[in-house]
Amino acid sequence: MIESANLLASKTWHIQHAHLVIAAMRRFAEELRAAGFAVDYRFARTLAEGLHDHRAIHRTEEVLVMEPASRSARERMARLGCRVVPGNQFLCHYSDFAAWVNRRLNVRMEDFYRWQRRRLGYLMEGTGPRAQPSGGRWNFDADNRRPPPRGHVWPAPLTSPLDDLDRAVIEHISPFCEGESPTGIWATTRAEARRRLDHFIDRVLPGFGPHAEAMTTGSMHLAHSLLSPYLNLGLLTPAEVCDAVQVAFDRGLVPIASAEGFIRQVIGWREYVWGMYWAGMPAYAGLNALGATRPLPPVFRGNAATQMRCLDQVLSEVRTHGFAHHIQRLMVLGNLCLIAGVDPAELLDWMWASFVDGAEWVMVPNVLGMSQHADGGRMATKPYASGGAYINRMSDYCKGCHFNHSRRTGEDACPFTTLYWDFFARHQVRFARNPRVSRQVQVAMRLDDLSEVRECANEVVTRLSAGQL
Ligand SMILES: Cc1cc2nc3c(=O)[nH]c(=O)nc-3n(C[C@H](O)[C@H](O)[C@H](O)COP(=O)(O)OP(=O)(O)OC[C@H]3O[C@@H](n4cnc5c(N)ncnc54)[C@H](O)[C@@H]3O)c2cc1C
Repeated sequence: MIESANLLASKTWHIQHAHLVIAAMRRFAEELRAAGFAVDYRFARTLAEGLHDHRAIHRTEEVLVMEPASRSARERMARLGCRVVPGNQFLCHYSDFAAWVNRRLNVRMEDFYRWQRRRLGYLMEGTGPRAQPSGGRWNFDADNRRPPPRGHVWPAPLTSPLDDLDRAVIEHISPFCEGESPTGIWATTRAEARRRLDHFIDRVLPGFGPHAEAMTTGSMHLAHSLLSPYLNLGLLTPAEVCDAVQVAFDRGLVPIASAEGFIRQVIGWREYVWGMYWAGMPAYAGLNALGATRPLPPVFRGNAATQMRCLDQVLSEVRTHGFAHHIQRLMVLGNLCLIAGVDPAELLDWMWASFVDGAEWVMVPNVLGMSQHADGGRMATKPYASGGAYINRMSDYCKGCHFNHSRRTGEDACPFTTLYWDFFARHQVRFARNPRVSRQVQVAMRLDDLSEVRECANEVVTRLSAGQL
């Protein structure tokens, strides 16, 4: 196992991201040693140097590595002469995904998901071609768009106390990192990750789904699983996570809408994203279909304050935990950058460093594709652009905000609302024939005050770039 100093210095990582990866590596090495394996744990300037030293000292003829999820890492392994062996971090290898794509005219996540359900047998009644989805429907997503309920008590995340190993890692990585120091929220061993899976199944899963799109100042957790870092690091496998959900459903402990909603995220979205990543790389990482070139607003890096309550709330959660849930990523952080015309590659780089579950394979389709529409619609057939009205409906962020979510011009106009209309006017040619958003384009082009909106939008992006919003 090699800790590469260059990799650590390659980005300004959120300290909780770097801590999670390095502490999990060091603990895994300890566990392997305790189980009787000989572990060569090396600190090197680069991966290549670490491997060279290992080969020289141990006269190793062949080095096997588990297949890395991201292309850049896989290529590096190949360059270093390592033999890649299959891993267990996904249930559908990207070569099988590519074969599935080749058999179809249209590539849609929902079709892939149903294929996965049939193939893997999760939440199915019966076997073979006659098998039917449990609950009589493939998808209960329509039930999952409710705003946050008032006064609801959301589960608190589990924590684990920090020990000497954590403190040593924190001291080692601090000079390269930003964000608040680890609090014990993120598990760094398989046993602790399993404990979080059990907690999720018992306490959180029954409420998973109905409020999946809700955002509230009262909880960073809501009814999300917070399991992505462990799935991405390999502390948990997708198979064991889905098996646990199936068992809870079979025992009648979880409603079908919650079990289905979660299984869809894991065997549907997660695997689809991975397949799309490999199908599109290496070109995918450089796409910028909307020609967005503005720099990432300084408030993202903590170099400015903001009066936008939603943005302030989500960025402060990222600083505190290295985490934001899906809708915060998509509809606050991503949405703002999309409608403000921020360079998608800059947002990707920031998110990769800032989120504890960040990795190239998952960021490219989610950030460039789904969130920034930089792939021209491969991941999502519409741009995820919204104004303040959506944020107000799905969160408690707008109450007490300096800006008025329903105003698009004027001193107190909500920047999301102004930029939303400007976005559709700016991209009218591209989206006029898109059935999912053509109405927004028409409405934007017919606004009485469109020229005022455009002026106001220019001012908003100027102030955003200057850290004065
Ligand atoms: C702009 C943007 C950036 C994102 N960045 C990341 C990232 O760096 N790492 C990451 O793992 N996910 C990323 N996602 C996907 C998703 O937001 C996170 O997987 C999820 O928020 C993690 O929280 P959770 O474990 O509580 O998820 P839950 O809501 O509990 O979902 C369960 C699991 O489903 C999987 N999943 C659900 N949706 C996706 C998806 N779109 N892509 C991949 N896996 C998915 C995750 O493994 C997740 O743990 C991103 C999404 C967007 C829109």
